[in-house]
Amino acid sequence: MTRKSAGARIRRKNTKMRLDRTEARYFGLLEAAPDGMVVVNQHEQIILLNLQAERQFGYARDELVGQQVTTIIPEGFAERLVADGLLSAVETLAQQIDTGIELTGRRKDGSTFPIEIMMSPLETDEGLLVTAAIRDITLRRHAENKIRYLNRIYAMLSAINGLIVRVRNHEVLFKEACRIAVDVGGFSAAWIGLVDDSATKINVAASAGIDQAFVPVLNDRYLLDEHAPFGNSMVARAIREKANIVSNDTPADPLALFRNEYPASAAGSIVVLPLVVHDTAIGVLELYSGETDFFDDVEMKLLTEIAGDISFAIDHIDKQERSSYLEYYDGVTGLANRKLFLERVSQYIFSAVHDVHKVALHLIDIDGFKNVNDSFGEEAGDSLLLQVAQWLLNEIGNAHVVARIDRDQFAVVQPMVKHEGDVARLIKRLMEGLQKYSFSMAATTLRISAKVGVAVLPDDATTGDELLKKAEAALKKAKASGDRFVFFTETMTSMVAERLSLETQLRNAYDNEEFVLHYQPKINLLSNKITGVEALIRWNNPKTGPVPPDRFIPILEETGLIHDVGRWALRKTMEDHLRWRASGLPAIRIAVNVSQVQLRSSDFVADIQQVVDIDTDAAAGLELELTESLIMNNVQYNIDMLRTIRAMGVTIAIDDFGTGFSSLSCLAKLPLDKLKIDRMFIHAMSTEPFGQVLVHSIISLAHLLRLQVIAEGVETEEQLSMLKTLGCDEMQGFLHSRPVTSAILEDRYLVPPYID
Ligand code: C2E
Ligand code: CA
Ligand code: CA
Repeated sequence: MTRKSAGARIRRKNTKMRLDRTEARYFGLLEAAPDGMVVVNQHEQIILLNLQAERQFGYARDELVGQQVTTIIPEGFAERLVADGLLSAVETLAQQIDTGIELTGRRKDGSTFPIEIMMSPLETDEGLLVTAAIRDITLRRHAENKIRYLNRIYAMLSAINGLIVRVRNHEVLFKEACRIAVDVGGFSAAWIGLVDDSATKINVAASAGIDQAFVPVLNDRYLLDEHAPFGNSMVARAIREKANIVSNDTPADPLALFRNEYPASAAGSIVVLPLVVHDTAIGVLELYSGETDFFDDVEMKLLTEIAGDISFAIDHIDKQERSSYLEYYDGVTGLANRKLFLERVSQYIFSAVHDVHKVALHLIDIDGFKNVNDSFGEEAGDSLLLQVAQWLLNEIGNAHVVARIDRDQFAVVQPMVKHEGDVARLIKRLMEGLQKYSFSMAATTLRISAKVGVAVLPDDATTGDELLKKAEAALKKAKASGDRFVFFTETMTSMVAERLSLETQLRNAYDNEEFVLHYQPKINLLSNKITGVEALIRWNNPKTGPVPPDRFIPILEETGLIHDVGRWALRKTMEDHLRWRASGLPAIRIAVNVSQVQLRSSDFVADIQQVVDIDTDAAAGLELELTESLIMNNVQYNIDMLRTIRAMGVTIAIDDFGTGFSSLSCLAKLPLDKLKIDRMFIHAMSTEPFGQVLVHSIISLAHLLRLQVIAEGVETEEQLSMLKTLGCDEMQGFLHSRPVTSAILEDRYLVPPYID
């Protein structure tokens, strides 16, 4: 022990002398990095650190320089360096990245925190050094937990909503809701209690995760009178105040009267949510979480909604028992009537939490219905209404979102609208469907048309009533102007119209072969030769001129046209590649971009197989570019699929790398050939102080994983020379060439000096 520290002292002295030179070289880069950066030599000593690392560990720089790295990272780091010298450690590193380098950091005050380290080796005059980027992942850990919890509560919300639609009696509702809270929501226990007839106490109606022997005890305790024993329990207060009562540190919370009887592991936090029907608290839902500090604003918002849904269902079941069918249904068509529809819409509005998604209400008015009634009689009119209802149900496929709300007016609610395209597509479906459908009238058939008024929540309204009123106002405008559909918000009308016409034009573009592929060369930085090209799609809209891919690809994706267009691009590149081969031009690989929609399709592998089967040389001509976020979405599935594709001889590049925040551990598992650094980082190299460090880290990481690295969007000589210094393998960008037609590519680039 003493010998070791004596040795360390001597080495520290040597290190100090070298420090100035080393500092001058690395400091500028390290200082501004957002992560803590620590440079360690092969004797496990810290020789440099940046400001961020000082802050993370609570030391002044002088206190750490020369110290063993174990001072701040007690375990896991040094071990990786000592074993058999640095180089083999780096080798081990490459394998260990697979499991991720998440370690524990220790601050000067002895406290610890979770860190993620990324190590990259650097050969210098002073020997091999390892730069470690250290990220404090306390917040990320919290955030990950948070997301996990929230996802479970979302799942609980939708399970309970599903339950409400099915359930016909209270007992099942309560039992199932508690079960869902525990099984789906992940709560340690849940129970629902109802105020008894005397209004003096609560009786447990159902529970899950609670010892049944405990239920009579609960029943005895929850007296509601403020002056009764336990009259100030959380449950009693929730009923009296009609408010959620939260205890976020139950073991230490004096307000949680019975805290000593719950095991702390099951009741770190408790919430009591009142069930309110017609403004009266008729019962409570109590949920137990094993975590302390569990319930915050976001969770409470969702849970309040869940309690609201259960209350709604209680009321609804009551009503169904009480009232006749006709109070909620339309006698002519059997669809929901206005009243039931509005209740359902309010239900959907509950779920459209926090503007996460929108709700659209379409009001459909049949043109000239009055004429039908007048000339054919009321009975014929009713028959037409019934047929329209059947057509609509058929088209929409879900009776819960359709209603007849007035004489000749039908309504459809879209409970979950993510973007304008969703609304546009429904309108289009309805319009086209109606146009094609023949209704029978007396002995003849009849085509009908309709006007649609649409309102969107939260843009136009915040309640169901208001939403319907705005849709009615929009419909009135449509009838006055003769337009087939009108939105309450005028800009929406033109946006949707533009969008629909663009969709049509894109479909025509595919049919008329208006799409073209341009090719952008990729250059090897050592040899300056062309190693391949990237295929980039171009569309010259005959009406409006060239449209950038970023604008039309999302629409191809939403409409599903991307499947056709994607297959076309694969076929087309293959044709070009084989033509180059046949005419003696170099057989360079063509990289084709793959959209997330294509990748998720079950036909994708077969599509690739089909192109590869065209010729024995085909696979050698194809590379697929997949974006980072795309692959990371469903890692295990993608690993298997990519393996299959690579086995055919096709190579895989990960595109836009750095934008998807993937973890290193994931990247190492993927069967990849190339990594494309996103052009944002290439740009950052000359504009951001830490840009080069980032790019350097990406490159060394990729090389550790035996991936080739290509930089995209290279526009300046400065960027190019930096990339060379940092050891990048290839580049692509306007500096060398813009994407060009295949003819230009062949004439200008598939010839010396770009190829041998
Ligand atoms: P991407 O895959 O990241 O493609 C690179 C984009 O950067 C291309 O834009 C390219 O023209 C542009 N670019 C190349 N060099 C430079 C440069 O030096 N500076 C700058 N500022 N930009 C440069 P483009 O052609 O507009 O394509 C945009 C995106 O559209 C592509 O991004 C890709 O995601 C998608 N895309 C293009 N063609 C296809 C295709 O056939 N199928 C699919 N699914 N997506 C495609
Ligand atoms: Ca690309
Ligand atoms: Ca890219």
